[in-house]
Amino acid sequence: MVKEQVERRGIADVRVLEAMRKVPRHLFVDPVLAGRAYEDAPLPIGEGQTISQPYMVAVMTAALSLQGGERVLEIGTGSGYQAAVLAELAGQVYSIERIPALADRAQGTLRRLGYDNVTIRVGDGSMGWPEVAPFEAIVVTAGAPCVPPPLVEQLQVGGRLVIPVGSPHAQTLRRVLRKEDGVDQEELVGCVFVRLVGEHGWQGE
Ligand code: SAM
Repeated sequence: MVKEQVERRGIADVRVLEAMRKVPRHLFVDPVLAGRAYEDAPLPIGEGQTISQPYMVAVMTAALSLQGGERVLEIGTGSGYQAAVLAELAGQVYSIERIPALADRAQGTLRRLGYDNVTIRVGDGSMGWPEVAPFEAIVVTAGAPCVPPPLVEQLQVGGRLVIPVGSPHAQTLRRVLRKEDGVDQEELVGCVFVRLVGEHGWQGE
């Protein structure tokens, strides 16, 4: 998976490649889908949600430029797979999921695999997690109509936010760099994510 789908498409960050080689993706999906876990595609995880395509996990993770030791916030825990990849690369990972059943399952999977540097909570991640902010990196794994202002506020200066922004059906992955006097923004690649539902996301189911 890493060689064919990630390295070959130009992801060169060796720490990201190593982390993705290490995390057993098949343990983050339903056992009936385990045989498809390393395919070049997102897969259903229940509740109408998905585990993201491996390549997209790699692009988003590489865009965070993690060196080790950072405090990272993830919005959209889903299966917990992206959180595990982040946990291999950063110091402490905070992850928010709005659907309790997914948060519970991800928590169990991460605990069984020994990831004790991931803290999950149920809630609206579009509001961020002010009690444990600021973060050096924030990744949103659901598509948003705009960049949620609380997430920018909870980034420390020099911090990176990676988020798909666009319509409910197609988005562009955006990287926001927090500076002393504002932000720099850069568009990375087209993508399609399930919707970010919440105060600073899409309204309703
Ligand atoms: N990162 C996940 C993984 O590795 O499996 C994939 C996440 S899935 C593409 C998007 C997730 O975002 C869904 O589980 C969905 O319930 C969640 N979500 C949507 N809106 C949210 C919000 N406002 N706060 C927290 N989670 C949200």
